[in-house]
Amino acid sequence: MFTDSHAHLTCDPVFEELDGILKRANENKIDKIFNICTDKMSLERGLELAKKEKWIHNVGATTPHDVEKEGGLYFPLFEAAAKQGKLVAIGETGLDYHYEISPKELQKTFLVRYFNLAAECLLPVVIHCRDAFEDLYAIAQESFPKGHAVLHCFTGTMKEAEIALEKDWMISFSGIVTFKRSESLRAVAKEVPINHILIETDTPYLAPQSMRGKMNEPSFIHETAQIIANVKGLPLEEVAEITSKNAERFFNLDL
Ligand SMILES: [Zn+2]
Repeated sequence: MFTDSHAHLTCDPVFEELDGILKRANENKIDKIFNICTDKMSLERGLELAKKEKWIHNVGATTPHDVEKEGGLYFPLFEAAAKQGKLVAIGETGLDYHYEISPKELQKTFLVRYFNLAAECLLPVVIHCRDAFEDLYAIAQESFPKGHAVLHCFTGTMKEAEIALEKDWMISFSGIVTFKRSESLRAVAKEVPINHILIETDTPYLAPQSMRGKMNEPSFIHETAQIIANVKGLPLEEVAEITSKNAERFFNLDL
């Protein structure tokens, strides 16, 4: 059984096609999905969805892109959901200096606020980080020294991965690892210990190589799992099993 550790099921346009998407996920042996809620609408839909679908778990925060527009507005909603035990993690929060859609200082402010919330609620954090590892690790050291986090959709270097591993964080690989040009990322995946790896689709973005151009969905996770299996020299089933166990442990579903 496979776990998709990061999918935006309740955002548009995925939500409109959700019945078919979930059916195909089931048919393709995906038995857990972590749904990333990034605003009021996707959170409300996610909380409703999780009542019916026990295999879907919610994670929430405003993304680093959106903190300027929506950060202050929606923080209380994610805070309330976390304190009511309705989220299994906080995120995706983080820093994106590549696009820098929101000002860096504001991204940092919200990262600290979300780290504090996670620490208070004893929740792990799902992190989005692009071209900002130095600041991320400095802030984590200060505000979240003992907390658990996953670097979602990892595209960094081995050196950046190593610092996360020293912190006992997880590294999550998306469809990017399947792209033809991602040689260096596959080299990183080969080195990351398998018990620290999660896999994700980041639905609806980043469809894997054979599906490029299509809207991504959880049933496409096999291709990413297969690449991990190839670089590790492990059977696909074993990668599915281990990464699912890793996700259960990381999101504290095994307690
Ligand atoms: Zn995402």
